[in-house]
Amino acid sequence: MRMYICGDESQDGSDATNASEDIALSGLQPMDYRVSAEGRASFKRCRRQWDLGAITRQRLQPLDPEPFDLTRAVRDALAVYYYPGMWEWQSATVLPLVRKAFMRSIAAAPPSEHRMADLDLGTELLERYFAWAPSVDDFAPLKIETDVEALVPDIRTSDQALSTRSGERVLYADRVEMVAADANDEYWVVTHSVVPEWSGGESLLLDEAVVAACWAWEQTFLGMQVAGTIHDELLRTPPDAPEKSPTQTRTGRPGRGGLSQNEPSGGGRLLPQSERADRVEGRPASGQPIHQEVAGPLRRTRIRRRRAEIESAARQIGAEVLDMLDPGLSVYPTSSPSHCPSCVFLAPCVAMNEGEDPALELATRFRQGPLAPEYEPRLGAGGAGGRNVALPGRPPTPGSP
Ligand code: SF4
Repeated sequence: MRMYICGDESQDGSDATNASEDIALSGLQPMDYRVSAEGRASFKRCRRQWDLGAITRQRLQPLDPEPFDLTRAVRDALAVYYYPGMWEWQSATVLPLVRKAFMRSIAAAPPSEHRMADLDLGTELLERYFAWAPSVDDFAPLKIETDVEALVPDIRTSDQALSTRSGERVLYADRVEMVAADANDEYWVVTHSVVPEWSGGESLLLDEAVVAACWAWEQTFLGMQVAGTIHDELLRTPPDAPEKSPTQTRTGRPGRGGLSQNEPSGGGRLLPQSERADRVEGRPASGQPIHQEVAGPLRRTRIRRRRAEIESAARQIGAEVLDMLDPGLSVYPTSSPSHCPSCVFLAPCVAMNEGEDPALELATRFRQGPLAPEYEPRLGAGGAGGRNVALPGRPPTPGSP
């Protein structure tokens, strides 16, 4: 694992961004320059969208509530299903709480024509997930909905972390949905998505956001190495249910199956010292790179990630952030039928394309958001295991004593 230390001199040649200028002008201690996973995705998708919305740029947020997101509601529910502190509890106790979490997420969303339909669909998907997941779960959940942060490397040097001209550390920030440990005490980053159709194998292999999450996890919980990623997909149009759901769990453990949290000394209980020597020795010399199985409406794809792949995520993020910091960066729109219809900046963007001034639209329908990513507090976030983060300190600000 490569660690990066903060450079003592800014070498990025960039101007401070809008947000950091605000801080500098206020005379406050400079904040860290945080690039969120969402901001990074936005930068790669469309620079105009990123410029308007990113926390390091204009950080505009729509006043209208966010539209309903079925994947988000299902994740909220499964965060309770896999909550490590309740993993040993009886299904009869936990499943009502899972349903309640789903309903709470639905209730928090603004009314829309899709919300009621998605309520029925999400309820059905969850019930079928409860029936089928025990037949494939072969792990113990370690942590869910965990915030991670990692120093972004300065790719122009060997072991230096990137900092801005004004001395801000550059951090990559993400929230990792779930990390689980298998029978060999290997760690897996797990994601759940509701999808219209199964993703192509390549798109999961090339899912750079989840690989970046593996890297950021390892940088946050020093000493842990992530073996790979598990992608659970739930079909929006689930196949007809077979006559009978499986009655056996994958591991033979009753109830929700999986592995127990109560195995002695580890197996997913303490971070990061949970790798038991006998389990490490028992690991296969070379694991299957991709393993996929379908269970009812659920498809699980397990991808073993190579060390080089996880470590290259750091270099890629480093290169992208250098672009973000470049004062000469061109900010242009990248329109596409796949992402523009759901873009919150669609109306001002169209106005700009037509040569209109979007100021009034932006002033009346948007407000300035926070300077750092803000995630909804979730049950179990930052829970069992403790945070083992030890980021190096802030580099001295040039010109300061
Ligand atoms: S509408 Fe499309 S082109 Fe315009 S800012 Fe949004 S994503 Fe970019």
